[in-house]
Amino acid sequence: MVVEVDVSSQQIDTVAEQVQVHKFGGSSLADAYCYRRVARIVTEYAGASDLVVVSAAGDTTNRILAIIDAKQNADEGVAEVLLKQLEKYQQGLIGDLLSADHKARMMDLSRKDFKRWYGWLNNEETIDNRAELLSYGELWSARLLATLLQQQGGKADWIDARTFLVADDAPEPLIRVEPSRAGLLNRIAPHPGTRFIVTGFICADPDGNSLILGRNGSDYSATLVGSLIDSKQVTIWKDVAGVYSADPRKVERVVSLPILDWQEAEELARLGSPVLHPRTFQPVNRDRMVIAVRSSLKVENQQTRIGQYEDTEPRGKVLTALAEVVLFRVSLRDARLVEQFEELELTPLISWNDLDTQHAYYAYHQNHLYFMEGWLEEIDVSNQVVQMQGYSMIALVGNRIQETEQYKTFKQELSEQSLKRLSFTPDNNAVVAILEQKMDNRLLNRLHSQLFNYRRSLGVLVVGRGNIGSAWLALYRRLRERINEQMDVRIIGILNSTRMWLDYNGVDLNDWEASFDQMARPYDLSQLIPELPNAPYDELVMLDLTDAVSVAQLYPSFFANGVHIISANKRAGASNESQYNEIRTIQHEYEREWYYNTTVGAGLPLNYALNDLRNSGDAIRSISGIFSGTMSWLFENFNTEVKFSDLVREAKERGLSEPDPREDLSCQDIVRKLLILAREIGLRLDWQDIDVESLLPEQLADISLSEFMDRLPELDDEMHALYADAQKTGKVPRLLASFAVQEDDSVRARVGIEYIPEGDMLANLIPGENIFVIYTDWYHEMPLVISGPGAGKEVTAGGVQSDLNQLLSRLSKKGLN
Ligand code: ADP
Ligand code: ASP
Ligand code: MG
Repeated sequence: MVVEVDVSSQQIDTVAEQVQVHKFGGSSLADAYCYRRVARIVTEYAGASDLVVVSAAGDTTNRILAIIDAKQNADEGVAEVLLKQLEKYQQGLIGDLLSADHKARMMDLSRKDFKRWYGWLNNEETIDNRAELLSYGELWSARLLATLLQQQGGKADWIDARTFLVADDAPEPLIRVEPSRAGLLNRIAPHPGTRFIVTGFICADPDGNSLILGRNGSDYSATLVGSLIDSKQVTIWKDVAGVYSADPRKVERVVSLPILDWQEAEELARLGSPVLHPRTFQPVNRDRMVIAVRSSLKVENQQTRIGQYEDTEPRGKVLTALAEVVLFRVSLRDARLVEQFEELELTPLISWNDLDTQHAYYAYHQNHLYFMEGWLEEIDVSNQVVQMQGYSMIALVGNRIQETEQYKTFKQELSEQSLKRLSFTPDNNAVVAILEQKMDNRLLNRLHSQLFNYRRSLGVLVVGRGNIGSAWLALYRRLRERINEQMDVRIIGILNSTRMWLDYNGVDLNDWEASFDQMARPYDLSQLIPELPNAPYDELVMLDLTDAVSVAQLYPSFFANGVHIISANKRAGASNESQYNEIRTIQHEYEREWYYNTTVGAGLPLNYALNDLRNSGDAIRSISGIFSGTMSWLFENFNTEVKFSDLVREAKERGLSEPDPREDLSCQDIVRKLLILAREIGLRLDWQDIDVESLLPEQLADISLSEFMDRLPELDDEMHALYADAQKTGKVPRLLASFAVQEDDSVRARVGIEYIPEGDMLANLIPGENIFVIYTDWYHEMPLVISGPGAGKEVTAGGVQSDLNQLLSRLSKKGLN
């Protein structure tokens, strides 16, 4: 029984700020694997004090109904077999998921429950009503999920909703809000930091008798619970990634909808789409709450957010259909009856008057037939109403639908069908057609493809706002129109190493530097990433324009949260083999794209050439060359007249070297490029496999940068000796990188000084130029040579853009869910 207490508004505020609600339906809890996945989602995506509403596992509710039916039909034998199967299924879950004490405890409880059920079956025990029997389904799943979370070390407990959710019995129970709120808060407020698993679907009357909220009622439970605590967000985890432009089980190439307005969602639910239960929206505080619908199977997929988005353009968003619709026809002369229909709480899909024949029509979902027949019998008018079967409904939902061009297409297409009626719903949120025929998926598909040639959207997160970041943003602004041809592309955030400026509507790039200074706030990237799927875009990409190891380490997390990556940063592509393999594994598991064209040779079309050759059947044998613009500049300018140390100093001053030139001299940067190239063509190579001859004397490695700059001349003697040595045979020294596949398929890789004949092309580059000399099966007598500037912010920004273009053309062609 619920104790009525006065809950302070402060208590509600505290809970509302901290607690969100998550809901998992039966299909998300169908077997042990699903339970583990839900436990993982709860731990990763729910806050420590969040509420989790669950339905009965798998088809438990249907099984219970079948048992009740069998008993009612006096088929005790069948009922017993079904009950045994249910027991096996439920205890199988406990056995698979729990161990030791947890398992023993839950098995014990389960045995007690089933003892009661067998008692009921043999008429030795009374179980009050159907609702109490049905309640067991939700009870078992809440208890099991809470115990699984405890076993995994989380603080979790479970709540039987009948202990707080009070309602008066009616065809659809009427919730008593205040005592329900007090009951819930009394239970949860004293336990911040505990995740409570709450049974969906059930509540109780003031005497404690069980009531149910109707089939599929746990979506409603979730928003109800959310409303009681004034929560900001309720996330409904489904087997689909949100609401799509049509039912993905029936229609090809549907698109997911990033946002949906309350009116649209409510209309869709009212028109019988299974993705949202019609009562889900009744209790909601629309100013405050957002309902997110997302996939528990593919967490990284896009989601739909339902909220206050009234300013959206009029647009048809969802095509929804019902295969079977019943019409009730009443004579308009029967004014009393017409009035009774008009006042009925269950509103029809649509209704209309036919003045020619003097009839009023009311169209209802086939599922409501049972209720309607009962009602007609109750008011004793069955003989005045004509029931008409064999109709179907198809509707296009979207705000202000009458103002759209799509509604005309809809009408036009359907004019060829045997149309009983086509009209707008009273709020102009949908156009509804009633067809005098069964629904046909081909018609649905044809209509869908004519109505929606949506442009998909891509949100871009720019990480790093240094030279390359700024250059790319300038380029993006210049090319924006062209870039937006394929998809609706927006920059959703710009980050430097300490602050970020995030705006899911797209940041305004006019004078963005000043806006950044004003708007940016501190952030923690690892916390930001799990939030990114909230951004209302079909696809997301992160541009890593940093040189940061810390960003590279988060690539798996970006991929796992559905984000594609374009890197100018070499750190991930050149990480050690185990990290690299992890990145690739997660990338493939989540089917994300990763482009990194600029990490080797900046904007040079090296990756295109290599991929094209390989895709056409060629095999790369070796690549050698000068991969570093800095090294190219230093050596092309070096001769007996100049000191190497002066060149290093000048390169640093002119921004041609890394801020700390030792990064270049130690050849680390070149090793990274070599690793990336080798891995790109499918070779297995790790740091220790590369023979590196550093130009950095050991005594200069571990001192401060300023001391290093002072002691630069210590490089000179050795470099001069090297030059003189090369000259003896008419050659010059160059810093070369190379790898070659050997006869036995092993790889030999080296970075270091080589002597090159003075006339050779490798010895005659323009200072700063990169060169890649590629030998393949086909190019074996004469190599394929690619050369040109291998650094510079403009060419690099252009290379990043080339990656983005590739991503766009790939995504815009991709199957859509
Ligand atoms: P739950 O797991 O919460 O019980 P349901 O199975 O009742 O979920 O509802 C989800 C189903 O709704 C999807 O599997 C999908 O086939 C169907 N559906 C119908 N129309 C749509 C739509 N427009 N968008 C997404 N799903 C839809
Ligand atoms: N378990 C209930 C049903 O199957 C409630 C729900 O799934 O939402 O109807
Ligand atoms: Mg459902």
